[in-house]
Amino acid sequence: MRHNFGAGPCILPQEVFKQASRAVLDFKDGLSILEISHRTPEFEGVVEETGKLVKELLNVPAGYSVLFLQGGASLQFAMVPMNLLPEGKSASYLETGVWANKAIKEVKFFGKANIIASSKDSNYTFIPKDYSIPEDSAYFHCTSNNTIYGTEMFSLPETNVPVVCDMSSDIMSRVIDVSKYDLIYAGAQKNIGPAGLTIVIVKDEILGKSGRAIPSMLDYQIHIDGGSMYNTPPVFSIYVAMLNLRWLKSKGGVAEIEKENIAKANALYTEIDRNPLFKGTCAVEDRSRMNVCFVMENPELEKPFLKFVEENGIEGLKGHRSVGGFRASMYNALPITSVHALIELMQIFAENHK
Ligand code: PLP
Repeated sequence: MRHNFGAGPCILPQEVFKQASRAVLDFKDGLSILEISHRTPEFEGVVEETGKLVKELLNVPAGYSVLFLQGGASLQFAMVPMNLLPEGKSASYLETGVWANKAIKEVKFFGKANIIASSKDSNYTFIPKDYSIPEDSAYFHCTSNNTIYGTEMFSLPETNVPVVCDMSSDIMSRVIDVSKYDLIYAGAQKNIGPAGLTIVIVKDEILGKSGRAIPSMLDYQIHIDGGSMYNTPPVFSIYVAMLNLRWLKSKGGVAEIEKENIAKANALYTEIDRNPLFKGTCAVEDRSRMNVCFVMENPELEKPFLKFVEENGIEGLKGHRSVGGFRASMYNALPITSVHALIELMQIFAENHK
């Protein structure tokens, strides 16, 4: 049995992959999901059900639209300021890693990004908490989970400024209060579905205030009006997302998966803290449940440890080059038995290297 601790894209339950592969061959009357028209009632039903599942699973209040877009979270880095930042105004950004940085980079095309706090000097090993958000900011932007560095934001600052959040790598992994956000975006490819789909959840009333002419494909309002069908949507990615969200619902929804995610993270962090060979890289209170980053006290043992676990069924544990060491990505689909398998290997390795 292989245990996939890779950071993605798209780690889904086996049963979802199986259902998806069947629909590639025969979705309806022998036709593939890939070939039927996206304007058929069957596919419109898929879009409708996927939207309903997102709303139900995240408890999205009235007054918000759920959009299925393309271009990845990376396009949102530009679409957000293009749609929400009026000429001459600035937006406040929390700089917590590479992805936040890329978001900040795009703002200059439309206005000014004000970096109100950063953990760059410590290689993004914590989430800054000591900052205030200027009242005249067009919005406040944060990244809820820093996939590369292994930090996660478990609370939001109190503010009257609209809150925008990149939730690419922890959406659907824990309960959130959507009413605290004005716009949430996420590349789908961690806990939702295949790459090629981007989910946006936007409070309708914040749109239409930028005073800027926006090209149609980059205008949230156009996509709301078109029911995410302004152009050909990413049909397969939406279909697989629907299957995966059905799976999540059948497991008891986000609250239940959150309990499992907490149990998985607690088990692995406990071992990292207990085992003398390993140490975590991030501030304890900001440790991500999705991406657990750790190194070895003796860096010379890192290569042999990686070889040992890979020989024993562990995939994708090598850390991102900007952190080094190891990164255990533990998205919703990773069973706790895989975490136990990794912990056992850490213990055996420690026994053999006393
Ligand atoms: N934001 C976060 C937190 C991510 O983890 C990633 C990719 O892993 C991105 C943004 C970029 O997403 P995309 O590749 O969909 O543009």
